[in-house]
Amino acid sequence: MRDNGEALLRDYLTALAQGPRPVRVVEKGGFWHQRLADRLLRTITLGGQDRYLSEYVTTLGHTIYVPDGWSERSPLARYTVLRHEVVHVRQFERWGWLGMVLVYGLLPFPIGLAYGRARLEWEAYAETLRVTAEVYGLEAACDPRLHDEIVGRFTGPDYAWMWPFPSMVRAWIAAELTELQR
Ligand SMILES: [Zn+2]
Repeated sequence: MRDNGEALLRDYLTALAQGPRPVRVVEKGGFWHQRLADRLLRTITLGGQDRYLSEYVTTLGHTIYVPDGWSERSPLARYTVLRHEVVHVRQFERWGWLGMVLVYGLLPFPIGLAYGRARLEWEAYAETLRVTAEVYGLEAACDPRLHDEIVGRFTGPDYAWMWPFPSMVRAWIAAELTELQR
């Protein structure tokens, strides 16, 4: 059986910090622009997204902003989330800031039907399924509760109702699980 993941997390953070373009992990609440983002999100989602500072991890460029209480999460939980966020770091490298603002933030709509954001998030949630299978086992990746949570992220207020078609998100999940089961 694997240890509690402390070594895995430590080695991963070290590797991120040592890359050609180092990735840093910092606490969100210490940044004025993140507190501002929190207020804006509460406003545009009519209070639907009110956990931006307390629960959500956000990646901007090569910085991963973590929420309050991050260090109290288990090392494996933190590792799992960081693997998802690093997909976003690579997207920033691929698309640049302007590209990310356009694709993630605005296209074709910022709220309700945000296909660009949905595809970028799906790439990261596919990694969430892969890393879940790696660290907790394939059964954990197949857990319907995890799938419901992912579907909720796409169809609910967390990301401003980015893709309100649960059956499509479930089909993406099923395709990724088929891939993993190979
Ligand atoms: Zn994400």
